[in-house]
Amino acid sequence: MTVLPTDERSLDAVPRAAVIGGGPAGLMAAEVMASAGIHVEIFDAMPSVGRKFLLAGRGGLNLTHSEPMERFITRYGDRAPVVASWLNRFSPEDLRAWAAELGIETFVGTSGRVFPVQFKASPLLRAWLRRLERLGVTLHTRHRWEGFDGEGAPLVRPAGGDPVPVRADATVLALGGASWPRLGSDGSWVDILTRRGVMVRPLRPANCGFDVAWDEGFIAKHEGEPLKNLALSFGGTTLRGELMLTRTGIEGGGVYALSAALRDAIERDGDAVLTLDLRPQLSAEQVRDRLRRPRGSESFSNWVRKSVNLTGPLPGLVRGAAGASSEPARIAALIKALPLRLTGCRPIERAISTAGGIDLDELTPELMLKRLPGVYAAGEMLDWEAPTGGYLLQGAFASGLVAGYGVVGRLGRGG
Ligand SMILES: Cc1cc2nc3c(=O)[nH]c(=O)nc-3n(C[C@H](O)[C@H](O)[C@H](O)COP(=O)(O)OP(=O)(O)OC[C@H]3O[C@@H](n4cnc5c(N)ncnc54)[C@H](O)[C@@H]3O)c2cc1C
Repeated sequence: MTVLPTDERSLDAVPRAAVIGGGPAGLMAAEVMASAGIHVEIFDAMPSVGRKFLLAGRGGLNLTHSEPMERFITRYGDRAPVVASWLNRFSPEDLRAWAAELGIETFVGTSGRVFPVQFKASPLLRAWLRRLERLGVTLHTRHRWEGFDGEGAPLVRPAGGDPVPVRADATVLALGGASWPRLGSDGSWVDILTRRGVMVRPLRPANCGFDVAWDEGFIAKHEGEPLKNLALSFGGTTLRGELMLTRTGIEGGGVYALSAALRDAIERDGDAVLTLDLRPQLSAEQVRDRLRRPRGSESFSNWVRKSVNLTGPLPGLVRGAAGASSEPARIAALIKALPLRLTGCRPIERAISTAGGIDLDELTPELMLKRLPGVYAAGEMLDWEAPTGGYLLQGAFASGLVAGYGVVGRLGRGG
């Protein structure tokens, strides 16, 4: 039924493609293929598509980043050469122009991140789905993909029904990773593809929080509070950011940016020590000088608040690390380099994104699975990762576009 050999295609004048997964990667592949005159059907397990995309909209929908491409591409680590070939086809500027065509203007925030002016995802998704409908794309929600039948046709199971084979000349798999599974991407595709001989690297949390063995009294008092204006260092990288204190540890943009290296270190060594500079705007000498001010009968908290403006959870954090010592030089050293021992990663279910996935060597440059001719894959289910900052959506959109053009080329529609 699926992947008809070229000579059989004439049986059906209009080539047909199935897209499994209606996230950003799948919808982009669908748009490219439908624009080239392919009849496209999208199947998604959930009652509606783009649920993770909509959740990303709650944080303003950071679509991409405005930094120069030389810097942008480094965000994909050692997968950069492959991702660069996708971004050559669909760059951050292309993404902004594409959004503008849908009537969604974008702007560059102070951090260089790119957001829609409305700061949410729903207007973009609505406009996009209208465009797909105009292009003749059919959407089947509540249809879970369960693999392939004996002839290689994708099998989808409608809610409450039996699996049915889909008639398609090519299939794009865009099933996402395994974070936030209640939004649809649950990683259940891993077993299906592994059984077909496709090499899939273990799915692991990316842009995730970490466990810290907090002192009970400290966290009872400060759970949910932010630590702002920090410099965070690990493995030779230092960056500015903020953290959120949780019952089990830490979350937040600052630590997400270092999370790949921290996760790898914890997997290797059992734990990792993140170093926090609590007053990055002051030099070590300035902190030491200010703490030389006689403390008198002041409490520890008042002393560090009045001397170096440490407030909120910060005095407690320093105090916990200092133990019995309140010697100014020791306290100053801790304020500039407070070690925070991370004992584990938060589970993938709560991570922003997923590392691991289909090994990139399993794919042609057009993103077709070498072992499954006519089956393409895109988005977060491929083995690449990136920090937050718009790099995830950019990678999902761009790889979806490449897979879509791959199908267009294969089905002889000129891509
Ligand atoms: C809280 C949060 C905030 C985020 N914010 C941002 C941000 O601001 N900027 C950014 O760049 N990235 C952000 N991301 C990441 C970004 O949303 C994802 O990287 C992106 O959605 C991945 O796109 P995708 O199309 O590969 O997969 P997904 O968006 O996960 O879509 C996969 C689709 O496949 C469907 N599916 C899965 N399995 C099956 C099956 N067996 N059968 C049928 N359908 C199936 C799912 O229902 C889903 O619709 C955020 C993520 C989270 C969790």
